[in-house]
Amino acid sequence: MKAKPILPGSTIGVLGSGQLGRMFTISARRMGYRVHTFSPDQDTPTGQVADVEVQASYDDLDAVCAFARNVSVVTFEFENVPTATAEAAGRCAPVRPSGAILHTTQQRIREKAFLTSAGLPLTPYREVSSMEDLEKAIEDLGCPAVLKTAAFGYDGKGQFSVKSATQIEQAWDSIGRQEAVLEAFIDFERELSVVAVRGVDGQFAHFGVMENAHRRSILDVSIAPARVPDKVAREAVEIARTVLEKLDVVGVLCTEFFLTRDGRLLINELAPRPHNSGHLTVDAHVTSQFEQQLRAVCGLPLGSTARHGPAVMVNLLGDLWSNGEPDWAAACAFPEVKLHLYGKLEPRPGRKMGHMTALGASVDQALVSATSARQALGGRR
Ligand code: AMP
Repeated sequence: MKAKPILPGSTIGVLGSGQLGRMFTISARRMGYRVHTFSPDQDTPTGQVADVEVQASYDDLDAVCAFARNVSVVTFEFENVPTATAEAAGRCAPVRPSGAILHTTQQRIREKAFLTSAGLPLTPYREVSSMEDLEKAIEDLGCPAVLKTAAFGYDGKGQFSVKSATQIEQAWDSIGRQEAVLEAFIDFERELSVVAVRGVDGQFAHFGVMENAHRRSILDVSIAPARVPDKVAREAVEIARTVLEKLDVVGVLCTEFFLTRDGRLLINELAPRPHNSGHLTVDAHVTSQFEQQLRAVCGLPLGSTARHGPAVMVNLLGDLWSNGEPDWAAACAFPEVKLHLYGKLEPRPGRKMGHMTALGASVDQALVSATSARQALGGRR
């Protein structure tokens, strides 16, 4: 029998309380849902727009269970939610995507083992749990290479770029001598991502391929559609579809790729949630990645992912506050640019404070608008 959908008026629980939860909550409330958020923090980007903000530790499993009992479905916006937390929530409410997906994707060794077993292309890597392993891995893969902690890495945190074998000890120390992977350094042509969604009944939708540029390992600019041949775009979407199907995802998942200079796609990593490269879907697509997440976890049919036109997103990091408050009015003078701020009170360097999306007649035009509007804000990038 087909499960009944969770309809508007119901309450959704979100584990995590950052900007992803905030934008999810705005979508959900627009459609008449209530949202409760759970995290160790207070006055959070999600909590500011949710109906209820629960402040408790992820390790407080009684609090997690009480939270889950008050909602119709639990989803998450923060992939480092401990497995035990997702399991506790799962005893009291459906959790979508499942805790098992979180478990696979929150640790690089497990994620890479899944990709390998699914026959999907990924960056060459070796598991490392000692300095001897690291030495052997560098012998196998050569230099340059990137050493990454297996767990709790994001935005380049817990990473060391190994330029030569003389740096083995420094690299091992710098990541805190913990379980890790060594990846071959990919001299990529572009970085790409596919944000895709799968419904309770297996319905699949995607937003096409985004092209992403990073600065200091943090996403800086996303461009839609990516400037790649159709064949590459089709292949990236097919790989993403396989990932969502093999993981049996219900919800949104982003597959990040390196496109090599000889045209091969290699998966860098997976994020089982709406993704920074999908933020432009809010302004540039009929249905945003956040609404798709909502529809999927509620068992509703998915919406159209048609794009209104070429679009570019630029991130706004805390560095922009280096000369005081950015000049918001100056950025708003670009009529085709949409400003999103996350309600974070402390603008630390590297912290994602907001983003802007520009629509344009062409990708090049949208790129000029978005970057000019960001320039107009003043401050350092
Ligand atoms: P990650 O947190 O693993 O997504 O890494 C953040 C960024 O660092 C990526 O988006 C790339 O720009 C860069 N990076 C990570 N791993 C590699 C690699 N193996 N080769 C080249 N660049 C990398």
